Amino acid sequence: MKFQRVAIIGLGLLGGSIGLAVRAYLPGVATTGYDRDPATRARAAERGLAEAICESAAEAVRDADLVIFCVPPGAMGAAAAEIAQALPAHALVSDVGSSKQSVAKALGEALPNHAVIPAHPVAGTENSGPEAGFAELFQNRWCIVTPAEDADKLLLSDLVEFWEALGANVEVMDPLHHDLVLAVTSHLPHLIAYTIVGTASDLEDVTQSEVIKYSAGGFRDFTRIAASDPTMWRDVFLNNKDAVLEMLQRFSEDLAVLQRAIRLGDGDQLFDHFTRTRAIRRSIIAEGQDDARPDFGRSDHRA
Ligand code: NAP
Repeated sequence: MKFQRVAIIGLGLLGGSIGLAVRAYLPGVATTGYDRDPATRARAAERGLAEAICESAAEAVRDADLVIFCVPPGAMGAAAAEIAQALPAHALVSDVGSSKQSVAKALGEALPNHAVIPAHPVAGTENSGPEAGFAELFQNRWCIVTPAEDADKLLLSDLVEFWEALGANVEVMDPLHHDLVLAVTSHLPHLIAYTIVGTASDLEDVTQSEVIKYSAGGFRDFTRIAASDPTMWRDVFLNNKDAVLEMLQRFSEDLAVLQRAIRLGDGDQLFDHFTRTRAIRRSIIAEGQDDARPDFGRSDHRA
């Protein structure tokens, strides 16, 4: 492993998981961590999210050869500016942000004299904060690395090797394409979940209690997604605005087609559509990206 000292800025779900994963799967590699919240730093030290939890970002990166920003997308630029004076010249800067074009720009502007190669592990949960991380988060998950065209090829392969060591499958992708793909696979589903859960919460009290009681009919699965961190998701939509609006436009058009089929009683059209979407679910399971058991295996836990 080329990187021997990894600094993690932001010790929530992603930062904590990276720290724990490095400690578990790359035992010779030193880890330092910093978070702006003193309570998070204290809890990170108790959980051992990094070997050394530092009192400033500058202290955390002082000897690092890889720095990974694990803060919300909108906080990347300010967090990077904090380390500009302390960062060793040879260190590679990366991140885990869910949108890539705007984060690459923010990191590049804050650290113009350093190599920056952004990345996005497509792995997460609806939980956040220093309690949420776990070492296995990246196992068999995709990590999309989005280098600029002129990125150093050796540093790129070092970063790929790092993510593979944490258990991820790595794909190298153009940042623009990343933002478009993630808009439809992640950002739009979150927007839909936030909308439908909001709609239910605006219903009259008596209906609302029924929504909760009968949530296993489908609503419950939206609530998991809609419980995701508000700061992060506000930043995702503000930072990937164009791609999300493009996908939202397509979604609205497709929704109108289904709405029309229902109104006209066109069962064949509905049946064909649902058959196609069921095949997508089956290919996700075939690729090992979800659990094949009914109800995502949840009923097993209750047994
Ligand atoms: P999180 O659990 O909320 O952790 C983020 C941490 O960064 C918080 O402790 C936050 O402190 C801290 N922070 C904010 N600004 C900072 C700064 N300037 N300097 C130091 N620390 C700072 O969030 P997360 O889920 O790990 O998300 C982190 C990044 O991962 C985001 O960019 C997100 O897009 C990306 N990501 C998330 C997921 C997911 O499923 N959650 C998946 C893939 C990628 P405060 O609480 O005080 O703000």
